[in-house]
Amino acid sequence: MNLLITGASRGIGRATALLAATRGWNILVNYASDSLAAEITVQAIEQAGGHAVAVQGDVSQESDVLALFDAMEKHFGPTQGVVVNAGINATSMPLSEMTAERLRRVFDTNVLGAYLCAREAARRLPGSYAASDRDRSPSIVLLSSAAARLGSPNECVDYAGSKGAIDTLCIGLSKELGPKGVRVNAVRPGIIDTEIHASVGDPERLGRIGNQTPLGRPGSAEEVAEAIVWLLSPQASYVTGTNVDVTGGR
Ligand code: NAP
Repeated sequence: MNLLITGASRGIGRATALLAATRGWNILVNYASDSLAAEITVQAIEQAGGHAVAVQGDVSQESDVLALFDAMEKHFGPTQGVVVNAGINATSMPLSEMTAERLRRVFDTNVLGAYLCAREAARRLPGSYAASDRDRSPSIVLLSSAAARLGSPNECVDYAGSKGAIDTLCIGLSKELGPKGVRVNAVRPGIIDTEIHASVGDPERLGRIGNQTPLGRPGSAEEVAEAIVWLLSPQASYVTGTNVDVTGGR
């Protein structure tokens, strides 16, 4: 069982890689620039008895996305699972202050990148399990965000909108791929303790917003990983087109 995770060098992607490896998945750990973090993730998986390989690639570049899927086939064989996780945010500000360059960067990574990865998964996942693996179905998990339904006013309406596109992709692609035996689901994290918050220039945000959730704290990357790995598993065999909130009730 081979699982490609975009943006798995850090944060939610890394936690998913570590957990999925303990459930028997071979992992392709994609990263954009932090090769050291990606190697540390691979080493942690291998020290725990799993198998992983780190592959650099910018998900907003079509040639890089094709190369990622090719690398998976070369190292491990056909891809049976894809977690479309790589994503970025940017400094908090109202839309009226955002430059076209910033908007392009956020949409290129979060929308174009996610759609390219999902498209490639749609091409390669059908039929990726042997006929003898009747209880397993190939599966795609997309990373949305609670921002998609909150809108993130005065902070990042661009990021929020990019995640709205992911919610819609989940609905449409699950209907396209269901008849081909491929499940497509999304996870909507809330305020999760990862390095992404440093990118919005408001380090207090994690605690400030996280502590106001009904559960009274930010979430961990490991708590999001549990939902992702469940969606990939045979235990979720009748789940498709669903969006799982992991938000502490926010
Ligand atoms: P993170 O800690 O900032 O990690 C981001 C990961 O994505 C890194 O591995 C990074 O690689 C990779 N990446 C960034 N741009 C890329 C690109 N163009 N091509 C390939 N890889 C790229 O982020 P996170 O908090 O774990 O977030 C993971 C996903 O969950 C994102 O889609 C995010 O929008 C979503 N999410 C997060 C939260 C939260 O509170 N943390 C909430 C809702 C949704 P490098 O290490 O090489 O830079």
